[in-house]
Order: sequence, then C-alpha cells, then structure tokens
Amino acid sequence: MPTHITRRQFIKSGALFCAALMSTKFLNRALGEKSFAATTAFTKEALYYKKIDKNTVMCILCPHQCILKDGDRSFCRVREPKEGKLYTLVYEFPCSIHVDPIEKKPIYHMLPGSKSISIATAGCNLRCKFCQNWQISQEYPENTTNTYLSSHDVIKLTRKRHCRSIAYTYSEPIVFYEYMLDTAKLAKAHNVKNIWVTAGYINPTPLGELCGVIDAANIDLKGFDDKYLQEVCGERLKPLLDTIKMTREKGVWVEITNLVVPTLNDDPDMIRKMCAWIKENLGRDTPLHFSRFWPMYKLKNLPPTPLATLKNAKKIAEDVGLNYVYMGNVPEVQASDTHCPHCKKVLIHRVGYFVLENNIVNSKCKFCGHKIAGIWA
Ligand code: SF4
Ligand SMILES: [Zn+2]
Repeated sequence: MPTHITRRQFIKSGALFCAALMSTKFLNRALGEKSFAATTAFTKEALYYKKIDKNTVMCILCPHQCILKDGDRSFCRVREPKEGKLYTLVYEFPCSIHVDPIEKKPIYHMLPGSKSISIATAGCNLRCKFCQNWQISQEYPENTTNTYLSSHDVIKLTRKRHCRSIAYTYSEPIVFYEYMLDTAKLAKAHNVKNIWVTAGYINPTPLGELCGVIDAANIDLKGFDDKYLQEVCGERLKPLLDTIKMTREKGVWVEITNLVVPTLNDDPDMIRKMCAWIKENLGRDTPLHFSRFWPMYKLKNLPPTPLATLKNAKKIAEDVGLNYVYMGNVPEVQASDTHCPHCKKVLIHRVGYFVLENNIVNSKCKFCGHKIAGIWA
C-alpha cells in the first residue's frame, strides 16, 4: 500500500474520479433515476386506510392491517404516515423494468408469444423464506435503485417495445397498489392488457377495484396448509383462497402457481386437496403451474425439488381432472406444451419461454374444434 502519491498520480486519480462521477450523473439523468428522498417521500396519498386518531392510521389494503403512527414504516416497507395521512413511498418509482415474454409470468392462456412490460417496486407484505426476488421484495425503497416512470411513461414504453401487456410482478404488486391501479386504468383505455402476478394477500374491497382493470392474474397458491403458509410465507390460507375465488368470479383470467418445496409442502394428499379445491372453485380449465424449488435466500438447506416429485404432482392434478397442468423451472423436461383436452394434440408448443407453434384458431383447437379456455386475441 503506498504511503504517498506523486502530483501526477494525484491529478490523474482526480480526473478519473470526476469522469466517473460525471458519467454516473449522466447515466442517472438519462435513465431518470432520482434519489428516494428527492422524489417519492410523501407525494402520493395511499388508498384504503382509516384514520384512528390525529397521528395514527390503519392501512386496510391487506390482511395485516398495519396500525401506524407518524414516522412508523409499514410491514411492507413502502408505506408511512405523516400528520395523520398514509402515503405510498413508491408511486411511479419502480426498481425493476424489463421486457419479458408473457410465458415468463407465467401466463400461458393469454396472447401466447407476446411480450409484456414488467415492472416492480421495492417491498412486499409477505416474508417467504424461498423468495427468488428477495433483493428487492425484502428491501426498503431507500436501498434499491429506482427510476422515475410515470403511468403515462409505462404506456409509451409498452408501445415503443411492441408489448401487448403490462405485468405488475417480481416483488408484490399489492404494496405498490396505487401505481398499479393508475397504470392499469390507463392501459385499459389504450387497449393494453394488464397482468397481476401476485401472492394474493389483499383485502376484498381493494381487490374488487383492481379486478375492474386487470385482465389476467397469476396467483401463487404456495401450499394448501395454513400452518405452512404462516411459518414459511407469513400469510394465511383463508384470505388467499378468498382472493383467488373472487378474482375468478370478477371475470379475471386466473392461472395458479404452486412452488413445490421438498419436505415442506410436497405431501401428495395436500396436493390432491389443493387440486380438488381448484377444480371445484375455479373450474377444471384453470391452468396450474407446478414450479420447481431451487435452494436460495433462507432455504438454502433444502435440495431442489426432485423431478419425480414434480411429475407426481402433475399426475395427481390430471387425475383430479384439471385440464391444463404445467411444470416450470425444469427446462430439461417438455412440460410446458398446451394440449387439447379433447383430441390431446399439441396446441401450443413451447421451448423455454418461446412459442414455436400455435394451433389455436378463433379460440378453438385447430384439429377438433374444441373451445380452449383463455384470452387469445
Ligand atoms: S399493505 Fe403494507 S401497510 Fe398496508 S396492511 Fe399490508 S403490510 Fe401493512
Ligand atoms: Zn382438439
């Protein structure tokens, strides 16, 4: 380690530092990145809260129903009251913006092969020990790199990048409800579809309003056991099932994802009960995606889901009578094709997230004319 540097070295290092600073500033400006404090703090009043007294509010957006005093930060990390009003701190301030294939959501029965602008902010109202996006979902917005992106900008971006939908995804869109709702309303007016990728832990009234503008939802049904959901995810089964049912009843296209975690929620009886519930309450045409667990975040001690476990889950679901059962996170297995429930031929052939063949014509199987559930145009 040198104890001193020459004048030439000093000038050179200073110049490099200034250049680095300028390029960072330039980049930030080009991307619209702004500091958390400069943009979002207390600018957008939250929806769905009650005033309890002068300095105390209760958020009624999700079943946690946080009671917050001035200066408290919410459980989901992105809401805070000030002078008796509750504010969202992430309005129009996403930390992730990507163009994804719709299959990545996963949504398999709406506009296959199309692209989706996918946005997320920091924060989450759950604490899943296996979270794949914990770097943003379990983080405060002060600690993520955010970009100012208004709802209008999202629509413009959708057009520019030839996307047919906007997906609210990655972290938990419930916690950026106001941003999602305003953007989804605008998207609807511009004939752009809205996709909600969620764990579904929301209260019925805000859910009802959201369902008025959402076209499709992929809802995580992470397990069919209240104890598991409480201990591993920090949610309860009953409100989740209520969300799933209500979303379907309101006319939103619903697909379900179940992450199969070895030893924790892979009991065949539990899976059978879950599939029976889906068939009875949502109908046999509801797509079910069994997803392979991969050790990460707080569950690094468990192995990946054995292929045999996933295959068995798929067989159980098909035996129960579900028509569209898929396996995810297993590129080595061909388990993402859509088959006609009547003639059994391949309707949509997928490799990874790509659609190589689509035999659905006018919402029907090209081979036998059977109507295929979904949104195809
Ligand atoms: S959305 Fe956030 S602030 Fe509101 S009740 Fe749920 S965890 Fe609490
Ligand atoms: Zn057919």
